[in-house]
Amino acid sequence: VEETLSHAQKIEAIGQLTGGVAHDFNNLLMVISGGLDMLDRQTDPVRRRRLMDGMIQAAQRGAGLTRQLLAFSRRQKLRPEPVDVALQIGGMRELLDRSLRGDVHVEFEFPDDLWPVEVDPGELELGVLNLAVNARDAMPTGGTIVVRGENLSELRDPEIAGDFVRISVIDKGVGMSREILSRVFEPFFTTKDVGKGSGLGLAQVHGFATQSRGTVRIKSQLGRGTSIELYLPRSGNLPSKERDRPDLGNAQPQ
Ligand code: ADP
Repeated sequence: VEETLSHAQKIEAIGQLTGGVAHDFNNLLMVISGGLDMLDRQTDPVRRRRLMDGMIQAAQRGAGLTRQLLAFSRRQKLRPEPVDVALQIGGMRELLDRSLRGDVHVEFEFPDDLWPVEVDPGELELGVLNLAVNARDAMPTGGTIVVRGENLSELRDPEIAGDFVRISVIDKGVGMSREILSRVFEPFFTTKDVGKGSGLGLAQVHGFATQSRGTVRIKSQLGRGTSIELYLPRSGNLPSKERDRPDLGNAQPQ
């Protein structure tokens, strides 16, 4: 995000955000306080359970929103280090299972010889979580999310050159139209209902990838699904920084 928004734009964006997020938080707090009120009067154990589940979900959404906000407004630089992708993302299985739903499964496909990447491990996890949540939301009737890692040696793109690991998060969901594709990296752009989407997920993913000297690309087909590809530099083999131009990524239809 650092590279796509000027400082002034960023401050303005954070200002705008206060209103939107306050609204989202208010809705979540109403779910929780209303739920507690009903819980107080409800004796049926099944209904009490249902109320509690709803409140836990609302609290988790609020926590997710806060995490994204913190990541977005973060001032300090990321702290890149050599990261074993299979280990780092594989360690998220429980978190993913809990954050997603029973009818959505995550499959990991990491080859044994996958290179380590040079990234901030916390931001990598946040990025994968954001992508997995989007993939889930794109598949309302459930399905499989594939998280795949691949070594790509000696890329010669103008944008990224050298050795990269590509991490793809693939869904067979609703896909995106051209209009949506052209805007997905904008902070606060969301097509989701109030309280469900902050519009910060892909902005975080894009900021993370570009600040890690990689990039993010999207392939999407309406009604067929979406693959979001993170290109992250191989550790110990950092590519030269050739791109300083502002760039909103490479969203393009398949
Ligand atoms: P949010 O998820 O809070 O809406 P994001 O920045 O993560 O914010 O995503 C922005 C928008 O991009 C979403 O509202 C949705 O319209 C679209 N989108 C993102 N990921 C996918 C996906 N995997 N499939 C279909 N649409 C997606």
